[in-house]
Amino acid sequence: MKIAILSLDATLYSTRRLKDAGDKRGHQMRVINYMCCYLNITADKPMVMYQGKPLDDFDAIIPRIGASQTFYGTAIVRQFELMGVKSAIPNQGISRSRDKLRSLQILSGEGIGLPVTGFAYLTEDIDHLIEMVGGAPLVIKLLEGTQGIGVVLAETHQAAKSVIEAFRGLQANILVQEFIKEAGGMDIRCLVIDSKVVASIKRQGAEGEFRSNLHRGGTAEKIQLTSQERITAIRAAKAMGLPIAGVDMVRSHRGPLVLEVNSSPGLEGIEKATGVDVAGKIIEFLEKSAANDKKGTPRSGAVRDRIKY
Ligand code: ADP
Ligand code: MG
Repeated sequence: MKIAILSLDATLYSTRRLKDAGDKRGHQMRVINYMCCYLNITADKPMVMYQGKPLDDFDAIIPRIGASQTFYGTAIVRQFELMGVKSAIPNQGISRSRDKLRSLQILSGEGIGLPVTGFAYLTEDIDHLIEMVGGAPLVIKLLEGTQGIGVVLAETHQAAKSVIEAFRGLQANILVQEFIKEAGGMDIRCLVIDSKVVASIKRQGAEGEFRSNLHRGGTAEKIQLTSQERITAIRAAKAMGLPIAGVDMVRSHRGPLVLEVNSSPGLEGIEKATGVDVAGKIIEFLEKSAANDKKGTPRSGAVRDRIKY
């Protein structure tokens, strides 16, 4: 197959691993900087252009869209889908995963375990909002934060109120969330591919840190999941419309609670901690789904019906 990896940087670990895994399995792999792509949006032949030429011969793409480039990146993915090119990760799943509020509503709609979460516009209701999620200590999150930046633990009611007011003063959209104390600064990342958990790690936050993100100094280790955790991860990925996903959850007294679902999960931490060839499994998934999917023709009704915006 001819496969494009949409990535800003060919030297990144995940991009290199995907390229190597594809090369090894005999595919023609190419890394495309999606920010340099441009679009020809027409009724009869929608096309993605790159350096003066149409990108019209790929069988599949693997999007690795950066959090700060979601808008442009998903437009490029959507255009490839319109051209009938198989995307390992559909544009709709990427958009959903980038908005924590929308993600939690989707998961809630499927009855998947979540920390109690509140969202409001008016600051007049702050006191009630705080009480609604169980009072302090509580977690306050920017809707579009990532890597633990924009996630704050407020120890007291007054601190929570001040942080909420400060964020609102900056016109930032936030969630307030029940703090799962018993998680003890640990969360679980499950790598789901095609309705299977192929690798899972636990991440422990640095000393005194409730956020377990590796970017915030957390450490990763292989973990054995309970069957409930495994099922929750698979259901969460499916609800989001993501055949490939990194599902993050915490262990609580009432079972696993999903925090977020990632559509461009990093491969380095999880491959190194588990020894699993996740990149190889992603390529394998594409081979399988390309064989199942009859390749679409641009503009055909079949292609349009499959695309979700
Ligand atoms: P980000 O997108 O920035 O990674 P997360 O929602 O995943 O934001 O939060 C970052 C980390 O903070 C999580 O991995 C987890 O360790 C911790 N955390 C987040 N929400 C809660 C919560 N409600 N209770 C306990 N810990 C939490
Ligand atoms: Mg996270």
